[in-house]
Amino acid sequence: MYEERTTLWIPKTDLGREVFEGKILSIDEIFETGRKIKEPQIVDKLLPNLKSDVIFIGGSPGKGGGIKRTPTKRTARMHRSGRRYNIVALVVIGNGDGYFGVGKGESSEHREAIRKATENAKLNIIPIKRGCGSWECACSEKHSLPFRIEGSEGSVKVVLKPAPKGIGLCINDEAKKAMRLAGIADIWCKSFGNTGTRSNYIIAIFNAFKEMNRMKIPGEAMPEEEKEEKKTKKKKAETKKEIIPEETIEEAPKENKKKTKKKKAKKQVPEEAIAPEAEAESEEEIAEENIENSEAGE
Ligand SMILES: [Zn+2]
Repeated sequence: MYEERTTLWIPKTDLGREVFEGKILSIDEIFETGRKIKEPQIVDKLLPNLKSDVIFIGGSPGKGGGIKRTPTKRTARMHRSGRRYNIVALVVIGNGDGYFGVGKGESSEHREAIRKATENAKLNIIPIKRGCGSWECACSEKHSLPFRIEGSEGSVKVVLKPAPKGIGLCINDEAKKAMRLAGIADIWCKSFGNTGTRSNYIIAIFNAFKEMNRMKIPGEAMPEEEKEEKKTKKKKAETKKEIIPEETIEEAPKENKKKTKKKKAKKQVPEEAIAPEAEAESEEEIAEENIENSEAGE
């Protein structure tokens, strides 16, 4: 859509330097460690065949009524000399094979807004888990979603469902752009709320994908480190099971002792509490005896 500025990249962050020097060769390494990408050039280098598309979020009155959709939205603020305009753009980015991002940009110029949005989209890029969660299809290819997902932004709520092969993208035209860039071929969608606000609509879809990344898929291949961790945990659990009866035997009397101690303590407390009363009673008794004695003496 536009020509990127071809300036030399001088990395500013540690992650950027590692990518620049060739220590990190795939973007999955970054996602696994959970580091934040703060330079768009990192994504450019690791995913060279990225494509971007502008979502038509704006609108102007058309000739025959209705709204003519435009790629940028113009917002106005009042100034003492009249209206000042800001241009907002929403860009989706992806390689068509499992990586997808959305970004928003704002500026006083169209071109600049789209450039900013594209950079933000690169920084927001996430991996998309794909699969075939449709019972009608039940293949193991990555043409749809592994299960039903939900996402929301503003008033818009989106439910995305896996569809069998050949269904295509049963979704809004703007969202089709996003699905193509994410690499999803078949999908069913249900949406609620004001989907006319397309920026919220697309971001809701993005949020659904984000939510999916937090879930773990049962059939997914685990990294070797996690497998080893699980093995060690199992071993630990087994050893614990063996020890458990001894511990219970050892612990049981301890608990009893503690209880008895507590009981003793409880017993002691009332005794102490009673003691002064008893003394008082005895004093009274003594006093009474004295009175009686004195009466007897008289
Ligand atoms: Zn399938």
